[in-house]
Amino acid sequence: MSPLFTPSLHGQRHDFVVDFVRRNNPKKVVDLGCAECNLLQKLRFHSQIELLVGVDINGAKLRKKMHGLAPISTNYLQPTYDQLCVQLYQGSVTQKDARLRGFDLVTSIELIEHLPLDDLDRFSEVVFGYMAPQTVIISTPNSEFNRLFPGMSGFRHSDHKFEWTRVAFQSWSLNVCSEFGYEAEFTGVGQAPPGQEEGIGFCTQIGVFRRRGGLMLGDNAEDHFSYTLLYSVTYPSLRDQNILRKTLVSELLYWAEKMKNKWLDKLTEENPVEKDKPGGEEYGEIFWTNGHESQCHTLHRYVSVPLHLLWNCCPKLRELSGSLGNLSQLIIDDPQIQMNRSRSAVIICSLEHDLEDEDPNHLTDSGYAESSHVEEEN
Ligand code: SAM
Repeated sequence: MSPLFTPSLHGQRHDFVVDFVRRNNPKKVVDLGCAECNLLQKLRFHSQIELLVGVDINGAKLRKKMHGLAPISTNYLQPTYDQLCVQLYQGSVTQKDARLRGFDLVTSIELIEHLPLDDLDRFSEVVFGYMAPQTVIISTPNSEFNRLFPGMSGFRHSDHKFEWTRVAFQSWSLNVCSEFGYEAEFTGVGQAPPGQEEGIGFCTQIGVFRRRGGLMLGDNAEDHFSYTLLYSVTYPSLRDQNILRKTLVSELLYWAEKMKNKWLDKLTEENPVEKDKPGGEEYGEIFWTNGHESQCHTLHRYVSVPLHLLWNCCPKLRELSGSLGNLSQLIIDDPQIQMNRSRSAVIICSLEHDLEDEDPNHLTDSGYAESSHVEEEN
């Protein structure tokens, strides 16, 4: 029986990376040998990461789960200012690709032991010499631990080309460091049973490599593009003006509708809004307005809700637009919004369904009159 780990060893390796990311806040991260993107799945929820890339030689593995990296409905319904682009490439870590240069963090979790030794040399040249990230995390089995797996002979997996002792891994790592200008620290996950840690070490050994000094990626660096982009998705962000505008508009329409309904409720109660009642001043500024300016509606079916009231009532509108002027500028051309001539109020239709039945020619799909301005009635 193999010793069991709780959480799973696989999970502990990924948690190690997630914890490192939390503490170090890298913006650009690439996971080499990402397989079915399990680590990427965890990392995409880390808000500091702006570019998250996975690379694997096996395209079928990447395709299997890649759509699970797409934004979820909350990302669209409640976008934030975070920016995230996720990309998956099919390619070999023995090949250079200029799109992977200059990252903050490269992870290689249980990958190197799958590489023939010649390829391992190319891996170090590509990762440390060419990609030259700030930090590299490499995990690989610790062969000294294997004796705790009862009845095990050979390697832990049939595709492993080698499994190293701690000394073997550390001496390879220190050679890489001196060749490419890095320094390394060693740790691991998967604790040995109490009392045996010293003699055996962790089940998975981990090296954390940090580049010494800065690096200038010259303009004349050779541009290799050997990887195939299989998947790319950009998450909605409020830094995108279109997303910001859409979010503002839906927030503004929600609040305008809400204020209009409260105002109508008060009217129905035949309880005139008084200034000394809570909210009375606000509601005094909402009023019926005529409909279509060119067709001269006589029925009062539109309600004017001043922008400054919306601005005062809704903190999110203030946060998103920054100023009343910005708010007005951002919504001005939106087809869902109808404003008065002075652009100081939003005009809301109050009897949408009745109007549609009676006079469909005057309404757009959204239920508002087609003209961009309507006359105010005082
Ligand atoms: N890193 C993943 C994780 O932690 O769940 C899984 C690692 S899996 C044991 C090794 C992965 O390395 C496989 O998905 C394999 O396709 C990939 N691989 C093997 N040789 C590769 C190469 N030369 N370039 C890129 N990926 C490679």
